[in-house]
Amino acid sequence: MQYEEVLAKTWDVAIIGGGPGGLGAALYAARADLSTLVIEKQFTGGLIALTHEVENYPAVDLTTGMELAQSMEQQVRKFGAEILLKDVTRLDKAGENPADGFRLTLGDGRQVRALTAVVATGSAPRRIPAKGEQEFYGRGVSYCATCDGAFFRARRIAVVGGGESAFQEGLFLTQFGSQVTLIHRREGFRATELAMRRARSRDNWAEKLNYVVDEIYGGKVVEGLKLRHTKTGAIEDFSVEGIFGFIGYDPASAFCRHLVATDEAGYVLADSRMRLSVPGLWAAGDIIQGALKQMVISAGNGATAAIDIREYLAEMRG
Ligand code: NAP
Repeated sequence: MQYEEVLAKTWDVAIIGGGPGGLGAALYAARADLSTLVIEKQFTGGLIALTHEVENYPAVDLTTGMELAQSMEQQVRKFGAEILLKDVTRLDKAGENPADGFRLTLGDGRQVRALTAVVATGSAPRRIPAKGEQEFYGRGVSYCATCDGAFFRARRIAVVGGGESAFQEGLFLTQFGSQVTLIHRREGFRATELAMRRARSRDNWAEKLNYVVDEIYGGKVVEGLKLRHTKTGAIEDFSVEGIFGFIGYDPASAFCRHLVATDEAGYVLADSRMRLSVPGLWAAGDIIQGALKQMVISAGNGATAAIDIREYLAEMRG
């Protein structure tokens, strides 16, 4: 569909975000014959598209996140959902009456109209709070092992964080790096035993605990880190060519915080049917407060939202 046609229409459902939550909603909405638009700013699949291996989605034994994302996209297109690659910068009510629906402002200033919307924008990787991080982003600093791991073949790699992502993505990086060193600010971990056992079984895996990264330095590319011991305060140099951050995620809700209730961090507050504080709005996936950040749950949230939207629109139409 041409861009102007997308803008001319009032959609039954506009889904903001094309990850598993958004595509789960799109699948159920499109199959229920609702006119369905998914607006995604980068690529469908969201964070899952950047995950090297998926083995915990039912019926999918083992695949890459990218393959899974592509097949989800094909499936929703098959049922008639449209996908628009644009950034949504603001979400507003189009009027005081719920039947007026919503206005979604896009990065280029144009607007999409929809009777209902699903907020499924997920979260973005938290940047490592170290001097030099911005300067060396893309020149040795990365937040995506799948995208950038192969650039660090036979090089020394640091992975920052102590959660599931740090261990799972760090394990993936061990196939490239001469050594992969996990740097974590304390001795306790949030990761599962399984993820830790797998990573620790690799010969080129190492851990430096009770350290934070104070500075990332180098010439054209990263050459090393200044690490600070969290107990003694001692600073030491650590030579690496790549540093991957997995220190958690922040919610991507800036475009709707003025409209819907969120917690202090910016996660939206949804009820058990995924409804937000404003009638006509739903959410799905990692953007929801308390989300367990699992693909199967996000997709389920999307399905729940779409089923509720179908009922809401049927009631509105009488
Ligand atoms: P996370 O669980 O929030 O872990 C973030 C880690 O980074 C923590 O160890 C934290 O340390 C550390 N950290 C936070 N801020 C820091 C800072 N400023 N400096 C240094 N270290 C910092 O994040 P995650 O590992 O990305 O996991 C997020 C969610 O996704 C979890 O629910 C996880 O289960 C899920 N996940 C699931 C899968 C899967 O099922 N396949 C894969 C990946 C992630 P502290 O521990 O000291 O706070």
